[in-house]
Amino acid sequence: MREFVFQASLPRVVFGAGALRHLPREVAALGANRVLVLSTPGQAAAAQRLIELLGPRAVGVFAQAAMHVPVATARAACDEARRLGADCAVAIGGGSTTGLGKAIALETGLPVIAVPTTYAGSEMTTMYGLTEGGAKTTGRDPRVLPRCVIYDPELSCALPFGITVTSMINAIAHAAEGLYAPDANPVIDLVAEQGIRTGAAALPRLQRDERDVDARGDALVAAWCCGIVMGNITVGLHHKLCHTLGGSFNLPHAEVHTVVLPHAMAYNAAAAPSAMRRIAGALQAPSAAAGLFDLAARHGAPTALKQIGMQESDLDRAAEIAVKTPYPNPRALARAAIRELLQRAFDGVRPD
Ligand code: NAD
Repeated sequence: MREFVFQASLPRVVFGAGALRHLPREVAALGANRVLVLSTPGQAAAAQRLIELLGPRAVGVFAQAAMHVPVATARAACDEARRLGADCAVAIGGGSTTGLGKAIALETGLPVIAVPTTYAGSEMTTMYGLTEGGAKTTGRDPRVLPRCVIYDPELSCALPFGITVTSMINAIAHAAEGLYAPDANPVIDLVAEQGIRTGAAALPRLQRDERDVDARGDALVAAWCCGIVMGNITVGLHHKLCHTLGGSFNLPHAEVHTVVLPHAMAYNAAAAPSAMRRIAGALQAPSAAAGLFDLAARHGAPTALKQIGMQESDLDRAAEIAVKTPYPNPRALARAAIRELLQRAFDGVRPD
C-alpha cells in the first residue's frame, strides 16, 4: 500500500468564457485599491484592457515581463510597485508574466491575481524562478502563490497554434511526471490523468479552429489540472533535463518540453509501468512515449532538439549537468543512458 502526506494549497479559481469581467470584484475581495498590471511587451494591449476594466482601481502597467524573470526586471517591477503605492499586482500572460508577479510577491508581499493566457500552469504552484548572468535559481515559497486565478478561455483564442501545442505539451509534462512522482497520491493521479486526456483531446479541435472557445476552455481546464499536479509533486528527469537545456543552452521553454518528453518517458518506461499505462490510456495511444511523440508531430510541433537551436557538440555537457546533482526518478540516472536519450532527442527519433 502506498503511503502519502498531502496538504493541498490552491488559489481561488474563477473560470468561464468572459470571466475577466469579474476582475474588479476579485480585486475588491482582496481589499485592494491600487492595482499594478503586469504583461510582456507583446501583450501590452491586453494589459491596457485590464486598466480600463479596473478604472480608478488601476494605478499603472509594467509591460516588461521577460522569459525566466531576469533579476533586473523583477527589481524594476518592485520599484514601480513601490513608487505607485500599489497594493495588488495582476499578471496577464503566460508563465513569464506570472513569474514576474511571483517575484514581486516574494519581494514585497503584494497579493497577486493571475490571468493566464497560456497553459504553462505556473499560477497553480509555489515555485518561482529568477535568472541572473545566465544562471537560473528556483525555489518554493507559499507567498508567491497567486491569491486568485481568472481562467478566461476567450483570452487564449489569440494564442498562435504553434505555441498552443507546445504550451499544452509543457502542461502535459507536469502531469506525466506527477504520475510517477515519489510524493504523488491517488487524488493527484486522477487530476493528472484528467489533465492529459483533456489537453490532448483539445489540440485537434484547436487545429481545426484556433478560436473554438469550448476547446480553449478544455485546454485551460487541462492546464489547471496539470498545474495542480506540478504544484504538489517533486518532478524528475524530464523537468531536470528541460531545466538544464533551457537554462544552460538557452533553448525555448515550451519547445524543449515538447521535444524531450517522449524520450524522458521512454527512459523511465520500464521503471514506472503503471504511470505509463495511465499516460498511454489518457492519450489513447499504444505507449506513453510514442503517444507523446505522435501528439507533437500530428500537430506540427518540433520533435528534435536540432530543430530548436541545440548544438550537437553541447550534448556531452548537457548529460554531465543533468546527472551532477541527484534527484528522485523512477530509473537510476546513468550518464551514458542519458547521453543516448539526448542524442535521440537531438535527432528526433520516434521512441516505441
Ligand atoms: P511565456 O509566458 O514566455 O509566453 C510566450 C510568449 O507568448 C510571450 O511573448 C507572451 O507574451 C505570448 N503570449 C502569451 N499568451 C498569449 C496569448 N494568449 N496570445 C498571444 N500571445 C501570447 O511562455 P510560457 O511557456 O507560458 O511560460 C514559460 C515560463 O514560465 C518559463 O520561464 C518557465 O520557467 C515558467 N514556468 C514556471 C512554472 C512554475 O511553476 N514556476 C511552471 C511552468 C512554467
